[in-house]
Amino acid sequence: FTRLDEYNILILGLDGAGKTTLLEKIKHLYTGHPGMAPNRIQPTVGVNIAKIPMKRTLVKFLDLGGQPDLRGIWESYYEDCHAIVFVIDSCNAERIEEAKGALLGLVKAGDLDGVPVLVLANKRDLMGALSLAEVKEMVNSMADFMEERDVRVLDSSGLEGEGVRAAVEWVYSRII
Ligand code: GDP
Repeated sequence: FTRLDEYNILILGLDGAGKTTLLEKIKHLYTGHPGMAPNRIQPTVGVNIAKIPMKRTLVKFLDLGGQPDLRGIWESYYEDCHAIVFVIDSCNAERIEEAKGALLGLVKAGDLDGVPVLVLANKRDLMGALSLAEVKEMVNSMADFMEERDVRVLDSSGLEGEGVRAAVEWVYSRII
């Protein structure tokens, strides 16, 4: 008997970006657990966790609260973090600068040097969403801070599930 290797993936982003909805969808897709009904999901205060066995590993997804006064807690999770999923509400053009600032804070954090980052342009099912190209452009504008980092931009609907498996698979392929 050998213990499964454990990996931690942080799901970060502004409040309302869709982190908890995404976590519930991941749980549902990978464990068959029905997950919480989307209309019962409350803003995250603290942390929601899903531990999911994948191949010969155990992957722990941690969804941390994204309200400004909760973002300080993110740092305490950086040390054990193997990858980050940064969720962006691609329908909320007004908060895109704020999201960019939060992402920039992450890539500048010393404890996260070299940690792969998936930027997820979420809510792609809605009209008026920023395009994937626009989110890529935003990430490209931070190239000076990304250096050698493994970064990918994908889109998703955490609500409907499109793109969720592709997102998890990209992250998994980076941590193993
Ligand atoms: P969090 O604060 O980042 O955890 O965000 P939540 O998961 O609580 O979601 C915030 C709101 O956005 C909720 O009303 C969700 O139902 C909605 N939402 C989340 N993901 C999606 C998505 O992919 N598409 C749509 N249309 N709504 C979403």
